Amino acid sequence: MNVFFDADQQLHHPQNYFSRGKMRTPEEVPMRSDAILQAVKSLGWAVEKPVDQGWGPIEAVHDHAYLAFLRDAHAEWMATGQDWGNEVMSNVYRRSEGEPLGILAKAAHFLADGSCPIGPNTARSAYAAAQSAVAAADAVAAGAPVALALARPPGHHARADAAGGFCYLNNAAIAAQRLRETCQRVVVLDIDMHHGQGIQEIFYHRDDIFYISIHGDPLNFYPVVSGHASEVGEGVGTGFNLNIPLPHGSDAATFFQALDQALVAANKFAPQAMVLAMGFDTYREDPQSKMTIDTPDFATMAQRLVRCGWPTAIVLEGGYHAATLQHNAQTFLQHWQR
Ligand SMILES: [Zn+2]
Repeated sequence: MNVFFDADQQLHHPQNYFSRGKMRTPEEVPMRSDAILQAVKSLGWAVEKPVDQGWGPIEAVHDHAYLAFLRDAHAEWMATGQDWGNEVMSNVYRRSEGEPLGILAKAAHFLADGSCPIGPNTARSAYAAAQSAVAAADAVAAGAPVALALARPPGHHARADAAGGFCYLNNAAIAAQRLRETCQRVVVLDIDMHHGQGIQEIFYHRDDIFYISIHGDPLNFYPVVSGHASEVGEGVGTGFNLNIPLPHGSDAATFFQALDQALVAANKFAPQAMVLAMGFDTYREDPQSKMTIDTPDFATMAQRLVRCGWPTAIVLEGGYHAATLQHNAQTFLQHWQR
């Protein structure tokens, strides 16, 4: 399997985040990629550094003003010389009418929640992760049956114009858009524990990229405000967004029923390629999990997905259980065989 990863992705190391009434210790840390690199190494696969394709593929999905904010926010924050924390975080979430004035207004405008602190290297790492996603898409476009973007920081919660939920650049959406250069129809299947509201929003009005997500019911669960089954797309995009929220506590049988439903829908769409937004946070002991998926279930997932036969760019999303991430990833990857 072609595997893409850039060491710059490890520079982003958040120190704090704010969620559900508490300051919390980040789980989205460099150890995650170390674990998956270890899994890839155990399988005897090489890891390639992605070729830098510049901002073009990222700008195809994200707004200019947001990208400028992401690049400059930390320097502008530190330049105030005030007694602020050393990461850009906002306690105000409000869009300015017109251009936001000052770094606090920009943070209020471009950060969707408290789970996306911007440190000195965040933009650099997010950019490198996005390049890994582009490289995986390009490998698939060039004929590889499968490629893995070891994308960290993850991406599926990043909107076109805002960071959120540990995510800054929407790696899976960037990969899907890139694949559209060579494929008429691309399906994005998201099997992370959480609904990828960023991917949904980016493609909500389109019929050429079909977003399908299986995730924990967003009732009192991130991303909270989207991910319901009633969200089906708009305009020409109607029918090209499929959300399958599962009750908290769902077991593997329930998950695989949902996966069958997702694959039937994807099959009708007849995609020429798939982007798999892959999360390991459905694992039963994961701190983010609301399901009881066990290690062997990741083998079954891979076997069912590979059987579909679509050329696939796998883009890493969540997975935060340090003790098992390597083993779960290895189990999943080694069963991705035709
Ligand atoms: Zn997740």
